[in-house]
Amino acid sequence: MPDSMVTVKRKCPACGCDTESKIRIDRHGNPYYVCENCGVVVYDRNWYLCPVNEWQFQKLMLEKKPEGHFLYDTGIEIIGAVIKDGEIETEEFPDEVECLSWLIER
Ligand SMILES: [Zn+2]
Repeated sequence: MPDSMVTVKRKCPACGCDTESKIRIDRHGNPYYVCENCGVVVYDRNWYLCPVNEWQFQKLMLEKKPEGHFLYDTGIEIIGAVIKDGEIETEEFPDEVECLSWLIER
């Protein structure tokens, strides 16, 4: 499995430490990180945003901001988008898990 490129800075809910950890996807398709201090597994979906409608998604594509990871569910397919350095990269997926796996590699 390719390495994750998405790192989150969080306060660990178990030990209270500040941790900087990579997001990974478990075999059920849930994104999580492992606290670098106590090793606890924390499920986390706060590292990407979901545009709520077509208009919001198109606005994002057009303005290419804010930077970040995005997941848009059209109802038919899932579109992943990454905005970085004024560039946008998008790809369509049949399901959310494949989209999340693609997102963490970017
Ligand atoms: Zn911890």
